[in-house]
Parts: sequence; structure tokens; C-alpha cells
Amino acid sequence: MRRRLVMVGNGMAGVRCIEEILQLAPDAFEITIFGSEPHPNYNRILLSKVLQGDSGIKDIVLNDRDWYTKHGIQLYTGENVTHIDPEKQTVLSDSGRIRGYDVLILATGSLPFMLPLPGVDKPGVMAFRSISDCLQIIEAAQTYRKAAVIGGGLLGLEAARGLLNQGMEVDVVHNSPYLMNRQLDRTAARMLQEKLEVQGMNFLLDKNTTRISGRKRVGGLHFADGSHISADLVIMAVGIRPNAELALRSKIRVNRGIIVNDRMETSAPNIYAVGECAEHRGISYGLVAPLYEQGKVLARTVCGVQTAPYQGSTLFSQLKVAGINVFSAGQIHEETADQSIISYDGQRGTYKKVVISSTGSIAGAVLFGDVREGTNLLEHIRRQSDVSVLYKTDNQEEASSTGDSLIAEMSDHETVCSCNGVSKSRIMTAIREEGLETVEQIRECTRATGTCGGCKPLVHALLNYTLSNKESGIQKVEAICDCTVYSHEMVKEAIHSNSYEDEYQLMTSLGWNEPMGCETCLPALKYYLGSQNPSLFNKEDSRKKSGALRREDGTYTVIPRIPGGSLREKELTLITDAVRKYEIPHTRLTNGGMELSGILDSDIDSLIQHLGLEVMEYHYGHPLPPITTCTEPGCGVDAYHEAVRLAAKLEMSFGTRQMPSPLSIAVSGSPRHLAGTLTKDLGFAAVPAGWEVYVGGSGQQPLVQGQLLSVEPGDEEAVKLGAAFLQWYRESAWFMEPSWEWAQRMGGIIKLREELFDEQFRDDLAERWSRQPYTEHSGLHTLVLNN
Ligand SMILES: Cc1cc2nc3c(=O)[nH]c(=O)nc-3n(C[C@H](O)[C@H](O)[C@H](O)COP(=O)(O)OP(=O)(O)OC[C@H]3O[C@@H](n4cnc5c(N)ncnc54)[C@H](O)[C@@H]3O)c2cc1C
Repeated sequence: MRRRLVMVGNGMAGVRCIEEILQLAPDAFEITIFGSEPHPNYNRILLSKVLQGDSGIKDIVLNDRDWYTKHGIQLYTGENVTHIDPEKQTVLSDSGRIRGYDVLILATGSLPFMLPLPGVDKPGVMAFRSISDCLQIIEAAQTYRKAAVIGGGLLGLEAARGLLNQGMEVDVVHNSPYLMNRQLDRTAARMLQEKLEVQGMNFLLDKNTTRISGRKRVGGLHFADGSHISADLVIMAVGIRPNAELALRSKIRVNRGIIVNDRMETSAPNIYAVGECAEHRGISYGLVAPLYEQGKVLARTVCGVQTAPYQGSTLFSQLKVAGINVFSAGQIHEETADQSIISYDGQRGTYKKVVISSTGSIAGAVLFGDVREGTNLLEHIRRQSDVSVLYKTDNQEEASSTGDSLIAEMSDHETVCSCNGVSKSRIMTAIREEGLETVEQIRECTRATGTCGGCKPLVHALLNYTLSNKESGIQKVEAICDCTVYSHEMVKEAIHSNSYEDEYQLMTSLGWNEPMGCETCLPALKYYLGSQNPSLFNKEDSRKKSGALRREDGTYTVIPRIPGGSLREKELTLITDAVRKYEIPHTRLTNGGMELSGILDSDIDSLIQHLGLEVMEYHYGHPLPPITTCTEPGCGVDAYHEAVRLAAKLEMSFGTRQMPSPLSIAVSGSPRHLAGTLTKDLGFAAVPAGWEVYVGGSGQQPLVQGQLLSVEPGDEEAVKLGAAFLQWYRESAWFMEPSWEWAQRMGGIIKLREELFDEQFRDDLAERWSRQPYTEHSGLHTLVLNN
């Protein structure tokens, strides 16, 4: 049966969260939305463009009424929810409607903050928050001539630009000595002010308003220094406060906003909050990009899908005033940082400041005039990249300062549209595969540019770049599976340069089409994450820590590792005792070792302790297999012992490392390859000169004969070369790429020889191989080999 989901607030953050829910679990909920405004969900950000005359109200609707109907959503517009009864799990609206819920989402947004000045309630004093405000301002501009905007921040300046476009004279009153003082430094603010003055804006800085005068309606503003101005329309743009009154009335914990944890849960059971009304770790965000991130986490939480916690966001802002490019992100004031790198070009009217933290990482940035680097810098701020990356970019820029070079430099997973989390590769793939030719088509298809529009120039440049490189043989990227446009290589690169908590956070961050992934991509992501940070998967579940393999019926299989396959009576006894004691129903000798299967969940830990042997570990990839050797009757006593000796040494060195695909390794004690050495991923055959080492064979369909990599004089050299080969494969193979395919991709056996004969390269690989320690089970070292 569908659960009842009620959402209070029909704004940008809430509805985006519903979209995420519909994608994850389209049939899980019966959804009801209450919105106090009379409109379906619209893009509040673009109200600035409506006021500036660049868009109409129709153009800014995000989800029209048909969308709600199509998804079976009951929408009540113009209806205010006035009460929540958390005990009975119901909400009550101002029309007397009562709705029961299983899940309640509060997405009530913010209220504009109105300074409590004498005269603030006079007609003609307005906020700029909703369609209704916007239409009233446009109407007032038909009658009145002189406007004042209180507040020289983003919203105030966008409103002022709109009023100019409506034909009014505009004074901007700001209580700080410079504009946008939270996002800009003095230099950028001065450049901005000069540009806006040229456009016709007048500024009164460092002015504290004390009173709004006027008889029947507003007539002017009075300031603390005794001065005053006349105004017949006043727009208050001094900030917002989270709209948390409904929650407060319902005894839900509220500070400035509705307090939520990392899963967006409020203090009341089954009640969540998202958007500007929520307060997470002391912060209520006032920009959509973080709100959309919250929405993703909340959608996963209510759908019961594993999710990384919401941990806060890096803020960035861009001014939406035609002809002026300003970008600001992260920490931009030096007093809290160590130093900054500044470049200023008075001729071109460009300014760039990058703030560096005391640890040398990029902490913030301000750009004026040319903001093309904005997304790049934002990515570095999020990753806390070392400042040295900038010098590299600067040098490259000197060589070529075209937009193309900037785009070529961007890594594929870099975010282009930060509001909607759309990456460079997502856009480029859409252009190529869907045959897109305009920015509007890209917006339709990917959502990029669809929210604040600040990334439009970059998307445009990407479009030109992709179209002009289409015929020049740009390689088509092969995606891991249909859930994504990312290839194995791109995912590995993204993991390398970011830290992700798990595969779900990775998918969210890279904008997976299928939020739950599939059986092809999920194990691959897990492997790539685990190979960078094994502790992610070791800590997940103690059962996995013990390495046992879970079977479909809920029991486990344990495979003790037996170096060289050589057992003494002591180990045999341990195993048979264990079979009896734990009533293990299935034991099987395979060339993969001795499998003990059907073990109960409750017995695993004590069984492994009882055995005191290292076991094959199944964590995030495929464990290295037991090594096959030739048998005594087939190859003779000496060759057999020779093979077992090397196999034991190899197993001691190789341990239970996780590999990208299931491998096979064998040792033959003679050149007759009786252990099947020629059809293994890695094979060793004893010859008079030492050990022949074969790689890239396959005993499965298609049958592939391994190729001779080298002849090594002794055991130590053979073990080291084997380790170097496996490490190289482990680092560069794609998940489930067989070693023979990998070898071909790397340039064939000649190339492998060339590279692995480079002493330095081989030593480096062997060193990295040895860095991964043995697993905790040290029973291996108690084994005494019988030769
Ligand atoms: C002019 C302007 C320009 C902006 N520019 C940018 C920008 O460039 N970049 C950017 O990132 N952000 C910008 N923002 C901010 C951005 O619009 C907000 O961050 C975003 O809209 C917040 O979404 P929300 O869903 O939390 O709240 P809202 O969009 O405000 O939605 C909340 C809704 O809930 C309704 N509601 C409240 N209480 C109840 C109740 N009890 N019952 C029923 N309904 C209720 C409200 O009426 C409202 O419709 C701008 C905002 C404005 C006003």
C-alpha cells in the first residue's frame, strides 16, 4: 500500500525533492502538496529577470499543473497549512482541510526580513520575494518615479536593476561602506559600483535608515546621520529569515530555522524539513544548490535508500545583472585566511582574487569581469585543492587563453551547473548523443542553466567546443552501463580527486541516471572506492571483515588459505574438527581451495578463530585465488616440490588483496606447464635458467594463451615481478576487465615488457604492492610448510 506523503510548501526546494522521490520510488507514496501561493512551482530566482523585463511569469514555471496530475500529486494552491498534530499525524489547512500523513515534509522557505523601522507598514514599502511582490512592483513602477532599495546585496542590486528597467530612478541604500560586502572585497565591490553607476544606479553607502516617512504612502527615507532622500517606492532587500513558525507552533525544535540532522529529520518522528526553512549544523542556506543537495538526501531517506549524510555545502553566488559578471565562492575575506593571489587588469576591467588557507589549500575566490573560471575555482574550493594547481593553470593559460583551452582543461566530472549538479561530461555526452544544438535544448535535456542561469556562458562554450570537435575524431566515451554517461576511467578519476563516503554518495554526486545503480555499476563503483580507501568497506559490517562470502540462502562460505595447497596433519585436524563442531553441511575441494559452505551467521567469527588460518576475503573486489600447482604423480617429486615452494612464497607475498576481476595463478615445476600455466592470468614455469613468467592467459571462453613476459633467475625475482604485474593491473584495469584484454589495451606484451623491465617502474609497483598490509588474520604465519 502506498504511504501518505504530505508536503507543506510548493517552492523550489520542496518540489525538487519530490522529483527525486518520484525518480527513486515512483509508486511508493500518495503525495499531497500544500502551497500558500496561488501558483504551481516556479523558479523564484528568475523573478529578477521578470522584473528586469527579460522573462514573463509563464516562462518561469518549473512544473505546470499537468505535471502534478501526471504524477498523481494532489496539489492545493492558495492554501496555508496552519497546524500539525504530530501525535495523530495530521495537518490542518486554513480552509479546514485535514490530511493524514505517514511522512511529512516541511518546505516552507523563508520570509523576507523587514527592518522594524517606524513607517515600515506604509503603502509603497515592499519586499521582493514572490510573483505577487514582483507584479506589485511592476504595477507601482507605472505610476511612481522614484524608488529606493534598502540593501546593497545580491537581491537588492538585482531589484534595483529591475526598477531601472521599469523606468524608475533608483537609489540603493546600504549600511556597509561597500556593496555585496558578504561576497566581495573592496576592490571588486568598487569595480561593481562603477559599472552600476554607469547603468544609472545611485548609491548611498554606510547609511543607516532610521525612519520611513510619508503621509498616506511612503514619501522618503531618513538616516542616522540626519540626511534624507525622497522615494515613492521602497524595496526592502536586507535578508531573509527561515519560515519556521508552523514548526515552532507544533513543538518541533527550532532555532533560527527548523533544526534537522544529516538525514534532514526534525525532532518529531516522520517529520522532515528541506530548503531555506531548515537549519543544518547551525546554517540555513539561502541559495538553491545546497537546497537541492538536501533534497537528494531527504528523498533517499524517505525512500529507505542507502544515502551518504548531508554534510553542508560550499556557497557560491553570481549576480544576475546584464552586462556585469561577478562571481564569489567560499571564504573570501583575508582576516580568516592566510593570504591571497590577486590579479587586476584595469584595461579589461577584470579582477581575480583567490584566497588561500593557512594549510595552502584554495579557500575562496572572487572574480569580476571575466567569470569563466568560476566553476573551475568552485571545484577547487570544494576539493580544498592545493594552491599549486593554479600555477599550472596559469601557465597553460599563458600558452592559450581561448575558451577552448579552459574547457579542455576541465576534468570530465567537473560540475558546470552547480545549481543542478550537472557535469561537463553529462553535457558533452548529451550534445553528442542527442544531437543537441542550442543551450535551450541542453537545458531541456540535462537541466544545466535551468536555475540561476549563471553557467550559461560556460555551457555555450561547451556546446561550441563539442560541436567543433565532433568531426575531429573525439573519442566516444564508453559508459560503464546505462545508469550513467561516465566511463570506468572517468569514475576512477573522480574518486581520485574527491572523497566519497560510499557508492551511493558517488552516484549522487556524479548525477547517475538510475539513482540505485545496477548490478553492473554497483560492484564496479564499490571496487574503485575500496581500492582507494579499503576502510570504507571493512568498517561496513563485521561479517565482511571476517571475509566470509555470503550466499543467497543467508549462510556463508569460508575458504581457508593454504599456501601452496600444502597441509600438515595439524591444519587438516583443525578443519575436520571445525566441520564437526559447527556442523558444516558442505565441504568441497576445488582448485580454488577447500570450500566450507552453509555456515550459519552466528558461527562465522568463532569458526574463523577456531581455524586460525587466513581466509579468502570478499570485501569490495575479487580476492586473489589460491595458487594451483602441478601434482606429484604428473610432474615428478622434484618438480612438484619446486612448484609448491614458489606457490607458497607467492601466496605469502600476495595475501588476500582485492582485484578488479577473478584471476587464476598457477606454478608448474617444469617447462611442461602441467599446472595449466599457459592459460592463467599469471603463470610460472620452472626452467633451467630460473622461472618463466607468463601473463594474460585465459582458460575460459575465449581461450587465450598467456605470453612470456620474462625469465627470472630466482624465486625472489619471480615473486617481485609477479607482484609488480598484479599491482599494475590492479591500478589500471577496469572492473571485470580480464587480464588479457587489459594487456591488449596497454599495448600488448612488448609494451608490458618494456615497462616492467624498467627497474624503477617495477620497484615502484612492488613497493606500492607491499604497502597494502596483510589482513588482520595472521594465522598464515603459524603454518609450517612441509618441504
Ligand atoms: C528575486 C530572487 C532572486 C534569487 N536569486 C537567486 C540566485 O541567483 N541563486 C540562488 O541560488 N538563489 C536565489 N534566490 C533564492 C532562491 O530562490 C531560494 O533559495 C529558493 O527559492 C528557496 O526554495 P524553498 O523551497 O526553500 O523556498 P520557497 O521557494 O520560498 O518556497 C516555499 C513555499 O512554501 C510556501 N509556504 C510557506 N509556509 C506555508 C504553509 N504554512 N502552508 C503552505 N505553503 C507554505 C511559501 O509560500 C512558498 O511558496 C533568489 C530569491 C529571490 C527572491
